[in-house]
Amino acid sequence: MTSNNVHKACFQLTMKLKPLAILLLLILAVHTTHTMASSCSGQGVWLQVLGSGGPEIDDGRASSGYLVWQDGRARVLVDMGSGSLSRFEQSKAALNDLDIILLTHLHVDHSNDLPALIKGSFFTRRDRDLPIYGPTGNHLMPSMTAFIEGLFGATGAFRYLKDYVDGSGRYRIVSGNVATGPKSVSGVLEKDGIKVSAISVDHGPIPALAWRLDIDGSSVVFSGDISNKKNSLWRLAQQADVLVAHHAIAEHANPVARNLHMPPSEIGKIAGRAGVKALVLSHRMKRTLGKETESLAIIREHYQGPVTFADDLQCFDLLQDK
Ligand SMILES: [Zn+2]
Repeated sequence: MTSNNVHKACFQLTMKLKPLAILLLLILAVHTTHTMASSCSGQGVWLQVLGSGGPEIDDGRASSGYLVWQDGRARVLVDMGSGSLSRFEQSKAALNDLDIILLTHLHVDHSNDLPALIKGSFFTRRDRDLPIYGPTGNHLMPSMTAFIEGLFGATGAFRYLKDYVDGSGRYRIVSGNVATGPKSVSGVLEKDGIKVSAISVDHGPIPALAWRLDIDGSSVVFSGDISNKKNSLWRLAQQADVLVAHHAIAEHANPVARNLHMPPSEIGKIAGRAGVKALVLSHRMKRTLGKETESLAIIREHYQGPVTFADDLQCFDLLQDK
């Protein structure tokens, strides 16, 4: 993303922000200019943040969720945490436009609204198979395919929706597991102009993936929740237009939190080493809200590109200058 395009990043909620919040953004010099758009549905490739929060229930933010739009169609959904479905509705995305759903891992704040999305599909015109990819499982988490089976299979929690997996419905969920062991980038899928890659990342004991999408010359990488102890994400994020990094903890978080999440210094190192063109900080929690100045200063020790602290429904235009 060129600096010009960075300036095009739209801030749908800016008009709703209180003056103090606007002043804070200016002080942080997160972006030099802000423009607004009513949606991310313009021409080109756009990233939209559905949920910029974590699992907290009193932060006013939806949990993790993102859309990648191309030419007015929301083609990829990454994560579907609590509240993301409501934001999906607000985004005016159409379920039938989705080519694929990718989950970084299966913590509740990344997956909870998935069954509600599938139930809601009954009232849409979805009529083609829906691929859903996620990590392999372990003793704490099911694999993506086991998760789908556990929700919608013949003995699943929502078995009344089994038509969506047994082939008798209007469309079928086609789930797939991506290995969470290798430290190298896996090419997962290449279809209709979308290239999907993943790499295994460390999120404590939870199997987790970071995802990369390359669409029409634009690229965006989603860290998911990650402590970065595997030191793998920078490989996936090489020269990406945008890295969406989860900023769940402050620099001096306790060891338990650091076993699950990366501090700002680690985010800065990854962004700098990968040479990403812009950084979007999401999965914001009370532990980091209000500490933006401190976090940004630490990130700046390693990375000089544009940094945005994300809010729900915010849009970023990834279209390259041509
Ligand atoms: Zn998590």
